[in-house]
Amino acid sequence: MPVRVRFAPSPTGHLHVGGARTAIFNWLFARHNGGELIIRVEDTDQARSTIESEAMVLDDLRWLGLEWEEGPDVGGPHAPYRQSERIDTYSDAAQRLLASGAAYRCFCTEEALEAKRKVAEAEGRPPHYDLTCHRLTPQQISARLASWMPFALRFHVPDDGDVTIDDLIRGQVTWRKESLGDFILVRSDGLPTYNFSVVVDDHDMEISDVIRAEEHLTNTHRQVLIYRALGWDVPRFAHVSLILGPDRSKLSKRHGATSVSAYADEGFLPDAMVNYLILLGWSTPDGREIFDAQYAIENFSLDRVNSAPAVFDRQKLEWLNGQYIHAMSAAALRPMVRRYIEADVPDAWLDDAIELVKKSVDRLTQFPDQLHFVWRFDAASPSRSVDRAFLKALETEFDASGVPVDADGYQAMVERLKAATGLKGKSLFMPLRMAVTGVEHGPELVRALPLLENGSRVDPSIVSPRERVRRIADLLPS
Ligand code: GLU
Repeated sequence: MPVRVRFAPSPTGHLHVGGARTAIFNWLFARHNGGELIIRVEDTDQARSTIESEAMVLDDLRWLGLEWEEGPDVGGPHAPYRQSERIDTYSDAAQRLLASGAAYRCFCTEEALEAKRKVAEAEGRPPHYDLTCHRLTPQQISARLASWMPFALRFHVPDDGDVTIDDLIRGQVTWRKESLGDFILVRSDGLPTYNFSVVVDDHDMEISDVIRAEEHLTNTHRQVLIYRALGWDVPRFAHVSLILGPDRSKLSKRHGATSVSAYADEGFLPDAMVNYLILLGWSTPDGREIFDAQYAIENFSLDRVNSAPAVFDRQKLEWLNGQYIHAMSAAALRPMVRRYIEADVPDAWLDDAIELVKKSVDRLTQFPDQLHFVWRFDAASPSRSVDRAFLKALETEFDASGVPVDADGYQAMVERLKAATGLKGKSLFMPLRMAVTGVEHGPELVRALPLLENGSRVDPSIVSPRERVRRIADLLPS
């Protein structure tokens, strides 16, 4: 059987990191096995599902670099790929289950069911359905139908309702029949429940392996019973563990950003994000932590996916993202950095600027901070720490020899300043840095000073080093 897997998002918001990781594992599994990835949109929760959310989720998946063979956007042989458009398919399966006696019509009202649940709870019994409608005679059923009583379709848990699966991540999992009451397949409004539609779709779409979040593990009992009742092959299952926050509770908004797009907005790179999410559960056979998609595809297997929960570690993600940024060429970073830089500077100059600061950056959004000294010069703070004699020497140097535009020119300038001021080491470089950049800490001066001089020649909004010195001098008490 060819490998066919699916990612089945419910379109009720942005793609979450947990969903993204599930999608990535499905994608890796499909690619590793030469199989196919299907995107199926589970939008039968009409109150919460939106088409806008579906578009956002698909955008988020594309941003991560995932590709799929079939889905609502690309179509495919099993279209439609939105559950809301597949109601007829569920009806057919429902009819079969009704005809075979595996399911029955339940006329109980929500209020009646609620009351029964309360009684069961008070008596310390599990809140299982009491089978009232399973016991209806054909005559009673006909009478109810004749009076247009609304009904749901309920699955009857059979006597041989024990289920054992061999989960590809968690190993053998067994459920006893007694743990389950008869459950709803189709609600009285005609919409299928999740457990029903997922089985019909996974069968219809010829899914071989169901890789999904651990929270669906308990649903698997019901789903396997439905497969059996319909006489269908049961797919293999793999339930991926939860992602926890640092306090080991389920990752949620309390812990910070949870949606993929929020991480994109914060300046994380898709490749780093994918790398990090893969590490939340999968460990590489050779222990490496930084790898590209190709490596992950070649080496991926579910038996290296950890069955214990993974803890989302923002610091590690930042570190990893930094590693990606540091390893990228300025030219590759340039289009991304431009989004955060207002000034319209030439590529060559911007590449120099990126090269100068990229090692201090872990996220793209930090580039403006690191380049603050270029566009946001404020003479006030250096005017408090640089003395007039030093400024005078610097002015004289700049006027006589010009401002250096490369490393050689910078070295020559430093030698002349030493001679002129008698200063060396920190007492020379600190005031020099303050006078030129306006701040105490920043990139190496040997590159920052030429960068500023060259920048002022191509962008009028960059204050030249000579002008900086003049502005500081203007603020000094005479
Ligand atoms: N639609 C479900 C969810 O968003 C996924 C169900 C499944 O993978 O079986 O969690």
